Amino acid sequence: MNRQDMREGLSHTNRCLYCDTPFYEEISWRWAFGLTDNQLLCPPCQNKLESITTIGCSMCGRPSVEKTMGKTGGSDPSGSDPPEIGYVDPSVRLPNTFIKHPDVLCLDCERWKDTGIWADHPLQHRALYVYNAHLQEVIARYKYRGDAKLSELFSGKLKKLTRSLGKIDTVTVIPLQEERLWERGFNQAELLAERFPVQHVLERTSSSDKQSKRDRSGRIAALKGAFSLSTAARQTDWQDKRVLIVDDIYTTGATLRAAAEVFYTEGASHVFAVTVARATGKMKREP
Ligand SMILES: [Zn+2]
Ligand SMILES: [Zn+2]
Repeated sequence: MNRQDMREGLSHTNRCLYCDTPFYEEISWRWAFGLTDNQLLCPPCQNKLESITTIGCSMCGRPSVEKTMGKTGGSDPSGSDPPEIGYVDPSVRLPNTFIKHPDVLCLDCERWKDTGIWADHPLQHRALYVYNAHLQEVIARYKYRGDAKLSELFSGKLKKLTRSLGKIDTVTVIPLQEERLWERGFNQAELLAERFPVQHVLERTSSSDKQSKRDRSGRIAALKGAFSLSTAARQTDWQDKRVLIVDDIYTTGATLRAAAEVFYTEGASHVFAVTVARATGKMKREP
């Protein structure tokens, strides 16, 4: 057996799902027993993802101020602006899991509490990664260029992130606007949620159009009543139910809060959300 054969005997050749570069993955006993995920990205692509390991807000899951990884990590796509450090107490480093009593709040969540409508309707959210330039590219590729396979990168990890949630009665996704669905042919959130028993219970109303171009107060106003329950879901008893919403990017949280409001209005006790990417600081809005 030559050196190359030996190497192949102990490792596994993959192609990076993102850049298509072949790479070797060492086979460990954990991998052999199915205890870890198959490596889907080459090491350079993997290293550019900034995992959120600790959070500074137990409600919205805002990451702790310091960058969590990112030795070779992507930078904030908005350029040289510093992150909005004032939002989180830098000493707060909570584990990135859901908790029973989320009472450590960032300034943004404090502001949401003051908006009235959402005061008694908390939305506990957790994300896998910081929305950096590299992740923006990865998401754009599967979302707009139809490379649907890329969602495999995240669906299993999203499932793991929800292990700390406890019992959930309904898992759902944010519906895409009709014309977007027509253009793309798929709802990216649905692909991300493929490991969950997803039920399609939300519908968009006409007032949710073009919300991404408004400022914060405009977005809040437009999002009131942006979603409604589908006809079938209106027959469901939502009293004291626990609902999980899966989506791709958390920017201001306004869309997810508007969706959560539909369930709270029907009597749900808790609404949670998980996303792949958490925008921090001044991010460019998604197109
Ligand atoms: Zn790669
Ligand atoms: Zn927060």
